[in-house]
Amino acid sequence: MSETFIPAAKPIVGEEERAAVDRVMRSGMIAQGPEVATFEQEFASAVTAGRTCVAVNSGTSALHLGLLAAGIGPGDEVIVPSFTFAATANSVALTGATPVFADIEPDHFCLSADAVKAAITERTAAVMPVHLYGHPADMDALGAVAQEAGIRVFEDAAQAHLATWQGAPVGTFGDFAMFSLYPTKNMTSGEGGMVSCATEQIARSVRLLRNQGMEKQYANEVVGFNARMTDIHAAVGRVQLTKVGAWTETRRANAAFLDAHLEGVVVPPVAEGATHVYHQYTIRVDGADRDRIVTALHKEHQVGCGVYYPIPNHRLASLAHVAPDVDLPVTEEAAREVISLPVHPSLTEADLHRIVTGVNAVAKAGA
Ligand SMILES: *Cc1c(COP(=O)(O)O)cnc(C)c1O
Repeated sequence: MSETFIPAAKPIVGEEERAAVDRVMRSGMIAQGPEVATFEQEFASAVTAGRTCVAVNSGTSALHLGLLAAGIGPGDEVIVPSFTFAATANSVALTGATPVFADIEPDHFCLSADAVKAAITERTAAVMPVHLYGHPADMDALGAVAQEAGIRVFEDAAQAHLATWQGAPVGTFGDFAMFSLYPTKNMTSGEGGMVSCATEQIARSVRLLRNQGMEKQYANEVVGFNARMTDIHAAVGRVQLTKVGAWTETRRANAAFLDAHLEGVVVPPVAEGATHVYHQYTIRVDGADRDRIVTALHKEHQVGCGVYYPIPNHRLASLAHVAPDVDLPVTEEAAREVISLPVHPSLTEADLHRIVTGVNAVAKAGA
């Protein structure tokens, strides 16, 4: 193999992150402490337009605690997409509520407002759109449906730091929103999650739930978890936060290059008024053999790529019992056709040319 493999994703951690970890290790205060508090404030100013943020140990915990803080529980239904990472529906199920799967828009893969409207019942408490791949869901249409039905809106913004919808940042639309800080996301703290909270009441409830239900030591008010972030992780996240803006610009420039040069595949459309932050750059192979294309890109062109997600949530063994009869044709088609190409900020110009050459050759051969 003469050319080196281009990975599908590549977390960037360097000297500054290592120095930040070292600084915290030397301080003697390594669990949740002042770094976490500062990280929450800095994240709020950089990402959620100042809306209160509470840091936890993963994106999944952020969803779970956000839902519990919003009062979601047994008897409630929460409408979610099936075309997403399993954590979206898992977190709903873990509260005792029922995830109800609705179909997506064919162009940008986020929840369809019409499908959500059709899925509403007397038990529906909320809708939780996912800003999939870093493209914001249509928050105007979804917000209108939610308002008309009197249900609440939560956001799974795990993949969408700094994405905007009609000029407003994602993570500021719902009662709460979640951001993941897992290494493959657009920024990382190692593991971690952030809950952006619309009210002080939700923020306080998330803080209690993350720490055994305590605000003051041994004054446990509710039954809670240990879902705390450590100062070590927060220190890494604070460094990454200073870089995510520039990384996002590079992702967008890489995407623009791919948009302009790919042939024979459907490049990702961007909705009017949306800022896409390209957590993934996801193409569709219209009718072609997707798995053959993925294999050829790996083996013949050393281009890493991923399929997110080959099995929709409603067909996973863990969740299939929730909605055995649900019919989601747009989701099924997307699950058969999508390929996510490398778009991360470490790509060189030569990498981008190789991705284009590889995809165009393989798509042509497969047509
Ligand atoms: C990554 C991700 C999550 C879960 O976040 P973790 O930090 O891995 O727990 C939830 N939803 C979506 C859409 C994700 O991509």
